[in-house]
Amino acid sequence: MDVITTPADVRRIASEARRQDRTVALVPTMGFFHAGHESLMRWARAHADMVICSLFVNPTQFGPTEDLASYPRDPDRDIRVASEAGVDVLFCPDATSMYAPDHGTWIEVPELAAPLCGATRPTHFRGVCTVVAKLFHLTSPHVAVFGEKDWQQLAIIRRMVRDLDFNVEIVGRPIVREPDGLAMSSRNKYLTPQERQAAPQLHAGLLHLQHLVDAGERDAMVLARALRSWYEQHLGLGTKDYIALVHPETLAPASRLEEPTLAAVAWRLGKARLIDNLLLQPHP
Ligand code: AMP
Repeated sequence: MDVITTPADVRRIASEARRQDRTVALVPTMGFFHAGHESLMRWARAHADMVICSLFVNPTQFGPTEDLASYPRDPDRDIRVASEAGVDVLFCPDATSMYAPDHGTWIEVPELAAPLCGATRPTHFRGVCTVVAKLFHLTSPHVAVFGEKDWQQLAIIRRMVRDLDFNVEIVGRPIVREPDGLAMSSRNKYLTPQERQAAPQLHAGLLHLQHLVDAGERDAMVLARALRSWYEQHLGLGTKDYIALVHPETLAPASRLEEPTLAAVAWRLGKARLIDNLLLQPHP
């Protein structure tokens, strides 16, 4: 595996692969790899000739009071994990090589970025879209792989690609969980032992919701209230950021569950802000 740091190098390697008619897959990440990241890398390995993984803690997607400085990092371990997962090129730029000091061009998908995480992170998705667009331009991938854990991000990237005619296929992959159900996340490192013990209830509450749907409940407001009281009873820690039932593509609030509907939650637990989601199936 090659570890490279400059945008010019990744552009050269990717365009050389294209010239040789090799398919290129891109896996954008912020590092501190876990099995969720690995699942994206392995999917890419199985479906493309060249796998490029970017590892970049992108400053423009962090708000002024967020955890940019303390975001977990372990580059030596990340290099080992990526190499073992079949990555060909690990692209680890620094912020100064990705952004000119007077960088001033942004990509926004305001309608999809407004609800859910966007409500408390108003500039987050603008930073995500802009860096992903830059990575697409640098690597010209045939396919780019994202996790459904960040469902809103995936929906926004799909919309950006459609609206701006990016020539790349977007693939979403399922959430990888710890054995007790907690969605894997680099930020789980922030949890205290007590918080870590409570955290799987986020997922358990979503499964409870699917049971209510299986039993015939179709009213989104009733389901949202049920999830809230589940968390009050079983989580008992932290504070709600949001609980929402939305259309999986438009992210518009759902009223009745006639079609698959996304249940999405964000919960502040100590230093961590955890997100999780489940696509509720009214007709399994
Ligand atoms: P991050 O490094 O947290 O920005 O994540 C990089 C990519 O990995 C994103 O597409 C995430 O959605 C994906 N990802 C993060 N956690 C998981 C997980 N538990 N399961 C599957 N994909 C994940």
